[in-house]
Amino acid sequence: MASALTDKLTRLVKEMRGQARITESNVTDMLREVRMALLEADVALPVVRDFIARVKEKALGQEVLGSLKPGQTLVSIVNRELAATMGEGISDINLAAQPPAVVLMAGLQGAGKTTTTAKLAKHLIEKRKKKVLTVSGDVYRPAAIEQLKTVTRQAGAEWFPSTPDQKPLDIALAALDYAKKHYFDVLLVDTAGRLAIDEALMKEIKDLHAALNPVETLFVVDAMQGQDAINTAKAFKEALPLTGIVLTKLDGDSRGGAALSVRQITGAPIKFAGVSEKLDGLEVFDAERHAGRILG
Ligand code: GDP
Repeated sequence: MASALTDKLTRLVKEMRGQARITESNVTDMLREVRMALLEADVALPVVRDFIARVKEKALGQEVLGSLKPGQTLVSIVNRELAATMGEGISDINLAAQPPAVVLMAGLQGAGKTTTTAKLAKHLIEKRKKKVLTVSGDVYRPAAIEQLKTVTRQAGAEWFPSTPDQKPLDIALAALDYAKKHYFDVLLVDTAGRLAIDEALMKEIKDLHAALNPVETLFVVDAMQGQDAINTAKAFKEALPLTGIVLTKLDGDSRGGAALSVRQITGAPIKFAGVSEKLDGLEVFDAERHAGRILG
């Protein structure tokens, strides 16, 4: 695969001409370029370090030293390692639960939770023929409840009403009860986000998790968050047993390094990518394609 990184590495290798073989220190020089590429893509620093250490081991252990095109060989190792780190066989929503399967949406305010909730509803209705109910536990922002109502209707799903004077837990349990009585396959629970991590938010979502026992707990994170994604991911991972990640706003101009950071920090698979504001802008995450984007 030709990329800016391959070009840089090829140039580096040309400068090494005259040597009989590539040396370990040449590999270290090349890895410095890889490191820069990852940092430029906004992968968090500790994640970059860890990743480079893994690649170095592989690169020294095999092909690169003896390769005729060490630059390209190294890029392909980096690509493979990136894809393997971010990827995971099948990554659709898991609905293997006694219906209604509950999906809990977690993330900061503005990450794209409400939009993604409606996108998922549409996906589940159209691709998996499910009967879907949504509910909002965001009692702090009445506009958020209204927003979910609007996008749920657009998605063709049913919306369970809630009001700001209710407690999120009561709302969620009432929605679950309604979903059971009316034979819904899936209940998507949108939750309140804050602009930054705070303890009250984490306690609230933990309580929701304990009461609802969701089959999926999805962490929604904005790809444009870059370096900051690592702290958000850490906090949500500590609070909740995350089962998957949705990386939103990949239609923006970020190179999406947050994917690698968030995957590494949470250990949860990246299941979907948000690629537009519209409700059909949700794609199953493609780790290989994304690896190419990160390397630029
Ligand atoms: P929430 O606060 O987490 O519920 O976030 P919202 O769902 O309200 O989304 C915040 C903003 O991001 C809205 O303007 C959405 O239209 C926008 N948004 C969400 N997902 C995407 C995406 O994948 N691409 C783009 N371009 N915009 C998105």
